Amino acid sequence: MARFRRISAVATALCLCAFASACNAVYTAERFVFDSDIMLSVRLYGRHAEQAADEMQTLLDDLARAVDATVADSDVGRLNAAAVGSTVTVGAICYDLIGAAEELYAKTSGAFNAALLPLSKLWKVDAESLLLLNGAQPDALPDYDEVTAAMATATPASWLRAETQDGYTVTKLAPAEIDLGALAKGWAADRCADIARNYGLSARIDLSGNLYLVGSYFNERNGRNEDWYIGVIAPRPIPQVKRDYVTVLHHKGDTSIVTSGDYERYYLYNNLTVPHIIGRDGIPVGLRYDADTKTYAATDHIVSATVVGPSSMLCDAYATAVCVMGPEEGMRFLSSTGYGALILTADGKYCKHGVELCYTDTYDGLNAYTEIPWQST
Ligand code: AMP
Ligand code: MG
Repeated sequence: MARFRRISAVATALCLCAFASACNAVYTAERFVFDSDIMLSVRLYGRHAEQAADEMQTLLDDLARAVDATVADSDVGRLNAAAVGSTVTVGAICYDLIGAAEELYAKTSGAFNAALLPLSKLWKVDAESLLLLNGAQPDALPDYDEVTAAMATATPASWLRAETQDGYTVTKLAPAEIDLGALAKGWAADRCADIARNYGLSARIDLSGNLYLVGSYFNERNGRNEDWYIGVIAPRPIPQVKRDYVTVLHHKGDTSIVTSGDYERYYLYNNLTVPHIIGRDGIPVGLRYDADTKTYAATDHIVSATVVGPSSMLCDAYATAVCVMGPEEGMRFLSSTGYGALILTADGKYCKHGVELCYTDTYDGLNAYTEIPWQST
């Protein structure tokens, strides 16, 4: 599954096309949202499918106005620009998502942290810096002291939410910048799934890699309702293996599937991969600071975490958090939540629970990995 992608092509809000709109045909459409940063791709079956897709797009436009940190007058944009001590009025969506992010910070012991935008900027892995780098490497990696200094206020304790008579407010208690990018698409996929359900549609909703499957897959060729089969993209494609997928997951539907990893948004600094997911120490996953040599070095880490469960917002947040936690803590955490997972590591291991792999002869990329058997205790 593709991850979040910056699309630099023509800035059109509604890009492509309905291939079929008759009520008994499958309707597919692809629309760019979030200022062309995210693609909403839908496969809908049932009556009024196009109308449902329009509603989904409106919802995503509302979400962008609330939480897109790269837009100066979005709720999050205004909050991030506000001076310490000031109080900013925000809408319900932003307020609720910040609340969800606070809970996730506590639940994941800080692995999920929506206050890391200053660190993303320091490491030049935020959306704008990556665009500016355009594949080149920066002159240097950040000074470790700068990283630890920035981490001091990179926590939800740096702001205070309140519901007042005048609406929802957030007061900035310390220098902080919020980034809801690790759960907002999941939240939106849940709302899009609600829209599909309201219309009674069978749906595959794909928000740049955040997938929601509603109901059964309608097979146009035989007119039957069938199960879904979803490929998991190989984070480290192997030249001898032709398929892009490491494996295929089988699902009955009414579930979300979200993958996070280090392989879509990153740059290379000399031989080091510097990805967009930041660890509890303020350092991108897969890197560690060596105090003796005062340099950064590579470490084993999760390169792809696919999480499966009923809430796409939680799948999204957990997938990011698990990349930070590493395989052991990540699997323990996920099995305590009841969500399924398939995790691949840089040194060629994988573990899974609560997912069903299919077509393993054809999609045999997992053969290049060694399974770490997982048993919850
Ligand atoms: P995702 O693609 O859902 O894994 O989200 C990754 C994005 O969330 C990054 O590009 C950052 O914008 C932000 N982010 C980075 N590290 C974290 C983290 N530890 N917790 C929450 N959000 C993060
Ligand atoms: Mg996420």
